[in-house]
Amino acid sequence: MSMNTGDMSWGIEYEAVIVGAGFAGLYALHRLRDTLGLTVKVFDIAGDVGGTWYWNRYPGARCDIESWHYSYSFSEELQQEWTWSERFAGQSEILRYLQHVADRFDLRRDIQFDTAVTAATYDEATDRWDIETNDGERTRARYLISAVGNLSAIKEPDFAGVEQFSGPIYSTARWPHEQIDFTGLRVGVIGTGSSGIQIIPEMAEQAAHLTVFQRTANYATPLRNIPLARARSDRIKASYRELRAPSRDSFGGLPYARAHGAALATTAEQRQRIYEECWNEGGFAFFIGSFSDILSDREANETAAEFIRAKIRERVTDPNTAELLVPRGYAYGTKRPPLETNYYETFNLDHVDLIDVGKEPIAEITARGIQIGNTEYSLDTMIFALGFDAMTGPLLRMGITGRAGLTLNEAWSAGPQTYLGLMTHDFPNLFMITGPQSPAAFSVTPIAIENHVDWISDCIAYLRDHDAVSIEPTRHAQDRWVAHTNKLAERTLLPSTNSWYTGANIPGKPRVCMVYTGSGSGYQTACREAADEGYTGFHLRLPSSAPESRQQPTPAADTA
Ligand code: NAP
Repeated sequence: MSMNTGDMSWGIEYEAVIVGAGFAGLYALHRLRDTLGLTVKVFDIAGDVGGTWYWNRYPGARCDIESWHYSYSFSEELQQEWTWSERFAGQSEILRYLQHVADRFDLRRDIQFDTAVTAATYDEATDRWDIETNDGERTRARYLISAVGNLSAIKEPDFAGVEQFSGPIYSTARWPHEQIDFTGLRVGVIGTGSSGIQIIPEMAEQAAHLTVFQRTANYATPLRNIPLARARSDRIKASYRELRAPSRDSFGGLPYARAHGAALATTAEQRQRIYEECWNEGGFAFFIGSFSDILSDREANETAAEFIRAKIRERVTDPNTAELLVPRGYAYGTKRPPLETNYYETFNLDHVDLIDVGKEPIAEITARGIQIGNTEYSLDTMIFALGFDAMTGPLLRMGITGRAGLTLNEAWSAGPQTYLGLMTHDFPNLFMITGPQSPAAFSVTPIAIENHVDWISDCIAYLRDHDAVSIEPTRHAQDRWVAHTNKLAERTLLPSTNSWYTGANIPGKPRVCMVYTGSGSGYQTACREAADEGYTGFHLRLPSSAPESRQQPTPAADTA
């Protein structure tokens, strides 16, 4: 049900508008509409639900968090009725799951697909967000909720001559819906992050010749996907409650216990044994489940890095190719660790070449292929796996303007400014699900989403119960949170690496660590305490009174 206001120039008014219909938008719609009873509209530029899993449908795309963690926990019925077929579900299965969720909770009727939000402006006179969409329509809402995800704004290729190429160019993050047959073709892949590392072995199976253009070698560790037998599925279903608990509180939101303490406190033999066990376990066991000091101590990190380098040298037969694939010059885990299946063995195949574009970059794309120095690599088709303008990109591309004409781009010109990664000063009633400076990018995304949506939903219920028209963080609370997240990041090795965590993958983007690197429990406590104490650190504006400012919070002491 929607509400019409008297002012028809702003079309239909809803209590909440949500942007995005992936994991975040679907749960936010369900929670705000079906639990709080709000009128809600969702816009998504995609043709259907799914978000990341709608767009990234390239061969090999699959999650690298166990399926039984990488799914919603809010409905026990949903958990019981859905059976995952693999330890790490593939893209099409995850998309089917999200379509099922949309059907099961009757969500599609409030989602408008093929529609992009092009501008959203806060009107202080009415305390409403005025939202413009690319269909020319205007919509008004009291609450604007971003569910756009951290990795949805793609990094545009900036290669000279890209328009000259005579063959088709594909992007992993905008993969076509129809089946593409690469049989017999000379295929080039640019990019060796998680997406490149997933698609490269698949392309090698189809292409007549595959050329991989690598700028920075990555520390990939084995995924070790397996089908899930019925008996194991049943056991998972019977123990969801216990399985989920660690995801809410642990670092990384993953239930891999950091059982082994500091790497440097163990002997070289013990370390080797533990690394080997974690390597064999697969998934994020190596990163999260090995040692507690890998991300904070360079020497400890080097022990993990050396272990991985040795594994690469074992698996790649040509020593020159192996040395090209061996990562150097940055710490393991400071670029988001990719997980692989047959990635390194792919380079043992006669029809696969690896080209180093780190020393000598791509000069231009020509009509026939890729020019590097004096060499032209002839290709029939190429695939870009170049990554994303992460975390802030999707928000800053939405044309958001807050109080007094201040744009989000101006407010965040030196990097994101948030309190708890949930809200930002001067942008009342704008909520960000998995926003920058929250731990979402380091967590099991669906669980991080549920935490945020539940917080937002409780907050809106509180505003309603207290007749408040708007909420926004105080500048003081926000400044303290930004300083807190920066301080936590400085205790890690993250800031020194060029990665999407730090914005360094996008030319001109402010370089700042955008992810909260403290413990999940520290973050949960900070969110809970702010709410439990009547939204400390926030302004709540009552209809006809001066802004009410709550006492300033002290960010939870935390360690990375
Ligand atoms: P990414 O990790 O940012 O990797 C982009 C790749 O493109 C890097 O190898 C980068 O090299 C290269 N590149 C960018 N611009 C280039 C240029 N001008 N010339 C040559 N190379 C260039 O992006 P992604 O692989 O799409 O992954 C992004 C994130 O999405 C992941 O970290 C992960 O969080 C998520 N993801 C997850 C999965 C999964 O398994 N669940 C799968 C895919 C993606 P440099 O390193 O030198 O910049």
